[in-house]
Amino acid sequence: MKDCVFCKIANGMLPSTKVYEDDDVIAILDINPATRGHTLVMPKTHYDNFLSTPREILTKVMIVAQRLGQIAMKQLHARGVNILTNCYPVAGQSVLHFHVHVIPRYDTTDGLQISMKDMSEEKINLPTIAKEITKGM
Ligand code: 5GP
Ligand code: ZN
Repeated sequence: MKDCVFCKIANGMLPSTKVYEDDDVIAILDINPATRGHTLVMPKTHYDNFLSTPREILTKVMIVAQRLGQIAMKQLHARGVNILTNCYPVAGQSVLHFHVHVIPRYDTTDGLQISMKDMSEEKINLPTIAKEITKGM
């Protein structure tokens, strides 16, 4: 897609530090890493996010993400890994080309902080929320 920075990287029009490439998938080091070895895995073809990516492409991306997570543990001596993908700006997506973050973790106080607020009122509503979700399944 024109003007998409990750399409340009996938096409070789922009430079990147590549760690993996095949016909459909590319993995590059994040330019602004949260931790050492923070990698982005993405399809070469443009899809906006995880939710709009066809299953067969999703599978290929996730297989590479799993492999990179395993490698982070073995080669970078990470003690854990966060695999995450943001969908839409409200969820923190800043580049609107589907990508999965593979973030090696070395310590609970390293560069990635994930926190969840206590939303007590949502706990009370669990059965109602479950009904809304299951309606769509
Ligand atoms: P998002 O916020 O969309 O989930 O993540 C986008 C990620 O892409 C960010 O972590 C950001 O540092 C990274 N990023 C943005 N532009 C570039 C770039 O040109 N090259 C590389 N390697 N990473 C980028
Ligand atoms: Zn793109």
